[in-house]
This record gives sequence, structure tokens and C-alpha cells, in this order.
Amino acid sequence: MFTQSKPLRLFIASSNQGKLREYRALAVAAGISIEIALLPGFDSIPPFEEGFSTFAENAAGKALHYSRFSPELVLADDSGLVVPALGGAPGVHSARYAGPGASDADRIHKLLEEMRGKTGESRRAYFVCVIVLANAGEALGVFSASAEGEILDAPRGEHGFGYDPVFFFPAMQKSYAELAREEKNLHSHRGKAFQKALAFLQGASQGRTA
Ligand code: IMP
Repeated sequence: MFTQSKPLRLFIASSNQGKLREYRALAVAAGISIEIALLPGFDSIPPFEEGFSTFAENAAGKALHYSRFSPELVLADDSGLVVPALGGAPGVHSARYAGPGASDADRIHKLLEEMRGKTGESRRAYFVCVIVLANAGEALGVFSASAEGEILDAPRGEHGFGYDPVFFFPAMQKSYAELAREEKNLHSHRGKAFQKALAFLQGASQGRTA
């Protein structure tokens, strides 16, 4: 049984400040008191190559690997956009869909080209996020969530990052890039997966298994 005494503390297996801000904001929105920081020295730790074909394997591999270099609980995630009509692409290759050195705009351009001529159900897409918590080389939990939507014909909205401008989210009747950050966080694949992880951690901090 995993238990953690208060206060809750967590290192993110990343050097991305944006990701840190997002996870902190999500914890605040969930009303959960937790200290979250980037894993110290992340860039000098031998890197984990995310070469698996599923989000879960990549997230678990990353969490197990980096937790061996961490004095605290580690969170690793993997996420991406899945378009069933494109055989699941960009999928686990979302970040590298248009090759090395490409920009978000390049990736969106490639996606819209691939979607050309596809209508109706064929424009269905979903974002996936898998979060894995690990401690000293042991996985404690796997938390996943998805957000259903469809690929727009052209970008809409100014917020967000990645594929946000071309992902229409029917639940809010807006593209992800038209949502305010707080709005997206509450409903997004990452927000929902992290809410599950936080519920697990809260249970663990109260001496329960989750
Ligand atoms: P990672 O999980 O941080 O490696 O992200 C993988 C890639 O998926 C990102 O570089 C984006 O291209 C895409 N992605 C993941 N989540 C989102 C999102 O919320 N909006 C837009 N793109 C996303």
C-alpha cells in the first residue's frame, strides 16, 4: 500500500515551465494543496526515449526511469491527438508529426492536408493524456483521460498550443484555442487525467489505497 504523509509533493519529469504552470493551476482549480516542481537536474539525467507505440507505455517508461533519479514522487505524462480516419495519426508521434525542427504551424498544416476531402464522421478526433505516478522505480498508478472533438477545416482561436486551433470541442462549442486557459484545463484530457491522479494522491495522503 502506498501512503504519503502530508504535505503532498510531486516532481514533474520534464523541463517545461509551461507544463509546470499548467499542473499547478490544475491543482489550485481542484482545491488540492500540493507542492509541484520540475524534477531537479532533469536535463542532466540520461534521457528516456519515448519510442513505444502507446501513450501508456511511453508515460510509464518515463515515470519509472526518472523516478530512479528523484528523491520524491514523480509524475510523467504522454499525450497527443488521435484521428481514427488517419489510422490513429498523429497519435504518439504528435510532437514530431511534421519532422524534427517543425513548428506547431507546420504540424497543423500537415494535419489539414491529410484531412483534405474528409467530411462528417471522418473528421472525428480525440486527445489522450496518460499520467503515470512512480516512486523509486515503482509505478503507483496510471491515470488516463480523453477529450472528444473534431478537426476543423481551418485554425480558430488564439490561445493554447499545439493542435488547439484546429480541434473543435463540441462540449464547449469552441475550438480548444478559443477556450480560456482555466476553461480548457477543467475539461481537457490532461485536466481530467490529473484530477484522477490528484484524487489518488489525496487518498494516499489520508492513508487509504486508491
Ligand atoms: P507531450 O505529451 O508533452 O509529449 O505532447 C505531445 C504533443 O501532443 C504536443 O507536442 C502537442 O503537439 C500535442 N498535444 C498534447 N496535448 C495537447 C493539447 O492540449 N493541445 C494541443 N496539442 C496537444
